[in-house]
Amino acid sequence: MAALDGLPPLRDVIQRHGLDARKALGQNFLLDLNLTQKVARTAGSLEGVTVFEVGPGPGGLTRAILALGAKKVIAVERDSRCLPALAEIADHYPGRLEVIEGDALKTDFETLAPEGPVKIIANLPYNVGTQLLVNWILPKQWPPFWESLTLMFQKEVGERIVATEDGDHYGRLGVLCGWRTNARMAFDVPPQAFTPPPKVTSTVVHLTPNESPIPCSVTALERITHAAFGQRRKMLRQSLKPLGGEALLNNADIDPQRRAETLSVVEFVRLANCL
Ligand code: SAM
Repeated sequence: MAALDGLPPLRDVIQRHGLDARKALGQNFLLDLNLTQKVARTAGSLEGVTVFEVGPGPGGLTRAILALGAKKVIAVERDSRCLPALAEIADHYPGRLEVIEGDALKTDFETLAPEGPVKIIANLPYNVGTQLLVNWILPKQWPPFWESLTLMFQKEVGERIVATEDGDHYGRLGVLCGWRTNARMAFDVPPQAFTPPPKVTSTVVHLTPNESPIPCSVTALERITHAAFGQRRKMLRQSLKPLGGEALLNNADIDPQRRAETLSVVEFVRLANCL
């Protein structure tokens, strides 16, 4: 497919730079620039916005973000093989693409964030995606440094992010995201859209910060959700025993016979505040 940005088609880029996909790095590339533009557009207007991207790979999503007018992209990529391909994009968009070679899990995005609006857009490597999301939604300071997160996950993870009580996918991730963000699944992406195709369907999730979540200690909420969902089939008086069991539940005015999956986000926050 001819590229609208005048850069070579991604298949050529991959071939020329020998970027055979490595499973250990979660490399499933998006080569259709219409699709990468659809992902980038989910983040809303990018005019004047600095975008953090994790794992640009050969740069399909990076190119879409730049073509849609982002002021600057700061991309963190672990695979040094991708750097020459990304340098070509940087040359095409002078001063607008900065590539940091490194591990996104060890990157302090907040410190790197410049003045002005910041959005995060990424087709995440599946092995570190959930941990990155948790890092972005659980900083001590809130509202956070970012305006929105537009992230590709395995569909099953997307369902856990947007889940609410009594749903099959409700768990720790649903509580943490439900507390601090407004999260929605934007659209699914079938395996065939990737090179190589993964085994499962993917989905793009869009999250914006909840400006005023009920005040609560992050550590306390993490401890409560970890204990409660660690034994999700048990009654809370049992699963929360190490944290105070029945006494804690009575303090929070929650029936000790209930199970974790029936508690709303507000009830989890109340429990955390009673810890
Ligand atoms: N953005 C490209 C696309 O959409 O085609 C590639 C997405 S691919 C699913 C994930 C990318 O993340 C790969 O380029 C991989 O090398 C990179 N990656 C894997 N683990 C990483 C980590 N810990 N930190 C930064 N990048 C990582």
